[in-house]
Amino acid sequence: MLDKKLEKALNEQVVKEFYSAYLYLAMAGWFEEQVLPGLAKWMRVQAQEESCHALIFFNYLCEKGVQPVLGAIDAPPPKFKSATDIFKAVVAHERVVTASIHAIADLAVQLRDHATKQALEWFVAEQVEEEASADAMLRQAQRLEDEKALYLLDKDAGTRVFALPPLLAGKI
Ligand code: MG
Repeated sequence: MLDKKLEKALNEQVVKEFYSAYLYLAMAGWFEEQVLPGLAKWMRVQAQEESCHALIFFNYLCEKGVQPVLGAIDAPPPKFKSATDIFKAVVAHERVVTASIHAIADLAVQLRDHATKQALEWFVAEQVEEEASADAMLRQAQRLEDEKALYLLDKDAGTRVFALPPLLAGKI
């Protein structure tokens, strides 16, 4: 049995993860428009990963015998100023997501729901990685002083490839 408060929080987290995917896809669109295909690819991969996060929460609700209730996803900002501005927003957004996952973990501990607490551990570790990679991209973007540096960062970012999280193997 899943406590109603946890059920609500997990349903909301599905929406938050899809919003993340939506936000990063919007950022990919901005990079495409700027003719920076590598950074656009990096954001497309990021968006795919976020959709996977949403599905992991969705699957967990199903496994617990709860029908997921999908809420509305907000529209992401339509415009961005620069690569630095974008990665600042990514770092800030990932911090919000981390706080949200920690709050659900706190609730699971409070309710002594060890299964949910354990399911959240993958996300707690994933958020450490998400914040670190966003911060590394921000620091690289801030170092950019010329077009050549931006070109090199774009080339490097374009090597990122999507990998399905093992948790979703055979489950999408
Ligand atoms: Mg996520």
